[in-house]
Amino acid sequence: MSEHASDWRGAGACLSADPDLFFPIAIGTAAADRQVSGALHVCASCPVRDQCLEFAMRTNESHGIWGGTTPEERIRARRRNLRRSARHACQEAQESRAS
Ligand code: SF4
Repeated sequence: MSEHASDWRGAGACLSADPDLFFPIAIGTAAADRQVSGALHVCASCPVRDQCLEFAMRTNESHGIWGGTTPEERIRARRRNLRRSARHACQEAQESRAS
């Protein structure tokens, strides 16, 4: 990792937002849903959203809102990526056997 690899953090739109929005504690309640909606609204206009999401995916962040995604959305994305990788590996193996 380069020295400035996490410089994006200083440009996040959430720097001036309430941190509680991004890490709601009473999951499943109306209050938590409002916090998540508020966080996603902040993320929607964030200039470093892609970098934030890439970081969260790479480090397996399992809590909080990162890059405009909820933990559940990141879990689904990881599963999709794993399935895609497995399919790709399977296709390569089949092609290798066929040649
Ligand atoms: S994408 Fe959201 S959580 Fe990430 S830095 Fe931007 S505002 Fe903060």
